[in-house]
Amino acid sequence: MTEQRGKVYLIGAGPGDVGLLTIKGQKCLSQAEVVVYDRLLNPSLLNHAPSDAEKIYVGKAPNRHALTQDEINELLVTLGRQGKKVVRLKGGDPFVFGRGGEEVLALKDAGIPFEIVPGITSAISVPAYAGIPVTHRGIASTVAFITGNEDPRKESTAINWEGLAKAVDTLVFLMGMANLPHIVSRLLAYGRSPDTPVALVRWGTRAEQQTLVGTLADINGKAQAAVFSNPAIIVVGEVVLLRSLMAWVEKKPLFGRRIVITRPKGQAQSMAEKLTDLGAEVITFPTIEIVPPDDWRPLDKALDSLTDFDWVIFTSVNGVNYFWQRLLEREYDARSLAGLKIAAIGPATARALEKKGIKADWQPQEYVAEAIAAGLGPLLEDKQVLLPRADIARRFLKEELRKQGAKVTEVAAYRTVKNEADVIAIRELFNNRKVSAITFTSSSTVRSFVDLMGKDDALTLMQGIDVFCIGPVTAATAREAGLSVTATARDYTETGLIQALLDCYTQQEAGENN
Ligand code: SAH
Repeated sequence: MTEQRGKVYLIGAGPGDVGLLTIKGQKCLSQAEVVVYDRLLNPSLLNHAPSDAEKIYVGKAPNRHALTQDEINELLVTLGRQGKKVVRLKGGDPFVFGRGGEEVLALKDAGIPFEIVPGITSAISVPAYAGIPVTHRGIASTVAFITGNEDPRKESTAINWEGLAKAVDTLVFLMGMANLPHIVSRLLAYGRSPDTPVALVRWGTRAEQQTLVGTLADINGKAQAAVFSNPAIIVVGEVVLLRSLMAWVEKKPLFGRRIVITRPKGQAQSMAEKLTDLGAEVITFPTIEIVPPDDWRPLDKALDSLTDFDWVIFTSVNGVNYFWQRLLEREYDARSLAGLKIAAIGPATARALEKKGIKADWQPQEYVAEAIAAGLGPLLEDKQVLLPRADIARRFLKEELRKQGAKVTEVAAYRTVKNEADVIAIRELFNNRKVSAITFTSSSTVRSFVDLMGKDDALTLMQGIDVFCIGPVTAATAREAGLSVTATARDYTETGLIQALLDCYTQQEAGENN
């Protein structure tokens, strides 16, 4: 029997900012059957892998040691032998102090096919995010990447300290924080000037990014005073001075904030991109999933008799999309809505309709059901009104319109269900107080979040974490769940929600600087 042969892809994940994964890496990850990943990786990266892919964490965990390099090699060989498409996801670049070479040799020995997808190494990207180019015309023509974890008590050294001190302009040390005093003393001993600028950059490209600048003479004292810890890069050389001209990420308004978005998968991207542009680190945690209704019959019946209705009111983008999908599945098209008046609860819903070629006839000033009832209700007396909605939508709109004399047919067009996502990594982030804020864009995202975390746990985990809600209904649900709401958007849209975050954090900063 011939063995089914898999393939192992060694992929560099970049330094932490999820946007720094390469396009090729992302494509491989999206086709993975198994992902083997390390400590320090941004958990959001795993969202690129299929949800049913097996995810194996080989780093240190509270209840067990990290796998040794031999054990990891063996694991990759075993998975490869099972004929699987395996992604070995490694921080930075696999071949820059990543022990990728050892993994490749083990695969080669076992006759398992492999591919390498290089990544953006922290050695260049972390300095870049601190505004330090590792080479610069007229200032630095040579650069070296050096391991900083060589035991200083060892008699012999694999590092040519004299060569580094005398002949290389920019020195970039990885894994060097614990040995900083040794590194400094070696460079000074071989003649590098005590005035040489040094920068320490920790958690580069992540929300915790922090940079400390000094010289070979004073960096030890400064690092000790600041309790500067790993993971950090040490940059030695004149290029460090360029930071005063080139620092950029710290200037973004949401720099240093890690923000959790609870929107369902398909809807999180635009908000994530906008927040990332503003400097935040975004963690997407889809607490709900949008699925078809349990029973299509009520909607089908309405679609078969659309001419009986005067108005259709859409109260969400999902409502529009599911209504439309079903309309087409039933062999109808846009013409079936000819002659009907159409209302949209807000601009996003109106845009979703526009994409289908329909302009909404009516939209309230304020994007809540109450505003529809107050504004449109009086026009609907004796009118036949169709409300395609989520199966768990509030009863308010239907009841209020009925009170005003409308004949309302409410049908389920979709369902929101709790997303049984892997909550371990997210819980860990909350537990370690590594989240600044969480955003909720609907009552169901609040309820599912609390449900996924467990009610008591959710309240404890959320202490000190800012809660932002898209509108008053969502905020009320959050308060009922026991959460304290930091701010509610004034404009009940994604843009309004982002503005609320900006208002809160830029004001805070102005206050802090006073
Ligand atoms: N293969 C990786 C390096 C792995 S060694 C790469 O190419 O980037 C681990 C070391 O990388 C850490 O000790 C630290 O020195 C550095 N490092 C990785 N990510 C970092 C980050 N986000 N900020 C600062 N240093 C980082």
